[in-house]
Amino acid sequence: MANNISMTLDEVHALAKRLLQAQGFSARHAQAIANTVTAAERDECRHHGLFRIPFYINALRAGQASGDAEPTLSVLAPGVLKVDAHYGFSPLALEVADAPLAKLASETGIAAMAVNNALNVAALWPEVERLAERGLVAFAFVAASPYVAPAGGTRPLYGTNPMAFGWPRANHPPVVFDQASSASARGEIQVRLRDGRQLEEGWAVGPDGEPTIDPATALAGAQLPFGGVKGAAIAMMVELLAGPLVGDLLSFEAGEKDAANTGAPCGGELIIAIDPVRCMANGNRAAQLAHGELLFSKILEQQGTRLPSDRRYEARKRTVLEGVTVPASLYETLQELSTGEYTGKRNAYEGDDALRATLAAQGA
Ligand code: NDP
Repeated sequence: MANNISMTLDEVHALAKRLLQAQGFSARHAQAIANTVTAAERDECRHHGLFRIPFYINALRAGQASGDAEPTLSVLAPGVLKVDAHYGFSPLALEVADAPLAKLASETGIAAMAVNNALNVAALWPEVERLAERGLVAFAFVAASPYVAPAGGTRPLYGTNPMAFGWPRANHPPVVFDQASSASARGEIQVRLRDGRQLEEGWAVGPDGEPTIDPATALAGAQLPFGGVKGAAIAMMVELLAGPLVGDLLSFEAGEKDAANTGAPCGGELIIAIDPVRCMANGNRAAQLAHGELLFSKILEQQGTRLPSDRRYEARKRTVLEGVTVPASLYETLQELSTGEYTGKRNAYEGDDALRATLAAQGA
């Protein structure tokens, strides 16, 4: 196999945009998705970088995603906006909605955004980080394909349901966490299946409902939430916030609609933005943020700690100067896409050997 490929971030962006446009995405969608993919590569979140390009393309080819839908923004209530993606991927809808949500939150103190009919295969940290960079506290919630059992249950129901939180800082980039509510990533189970490695205890149950550390049995059964019943409660909350609350699909409903099994479910997202100065009498942003810094300094006093998102910011400093390394197997898949040799798979994540190899090469 060829060596891994070094690329600048500009090259990553140009490649992503070119591939997406060649497959039928509009210039605006291709630009927005390329922005998201490049940001993920920049921050060394590779599961959401170039690795995702076949997901976007498979969903478009399957007729499940629109490549040119223009998101529409509307006001649902004085503090609630809605952006309808009209079955396009979420990055463009989020870019369109970002500034209006921030403006409304600054005016009202708190504002929510319902994102509807959006295909989402991205990380959530970009949306909360952007809002926190504007001085706002932010939350985001997304439901996904059904892989995870409810507390005490044994059959898939919840998605891996991520949630993200952003906190603004005066002299640093925001503190952000962004985490799934499953005990492990699904890709990790698939990679261990291929590599003949067992799972950790507590990750999954088999179809018989018994705990399993065998990857194939786990994939046929159900993943488990992180942290037992507490993680299951978070997963349930995310389902309710990203589904019924905003009038969109639950994970199992999204799974049923993903007839082509593209792994790119369509559904909702809830984003909440809060202006700190509106949350206390005589609010003082500088004093409130300084108080937050006290917590961060106390955390960092302890050996072995770091703040969530610091890994990304460290990676960012490095990759903007040095570029990134793309595994050869992924680069080959992308080359096939660019030459038209890529035939697509029913499910890029589960069916494409090159992509599985990529996951392994990335230590996923
Ligand atoms: P991780 O378990 O890798 O990380 C979760 C969070 O913990 C991150 O914010 C990470 O920060 C932080 N963290 C990790 N180690 C430490 C540490 N030692 N000290 C302090 N903080 C730490 O994430 P997940 O596997 O749960 O999720 C991965 C991504 O997948 C997320 O971006 C999520 O949005 C995405 N996802 C998307 C889905 C979709 O449908 N669109 C579905 C499921 C997941 P840091 O980044 O700095 O390491």
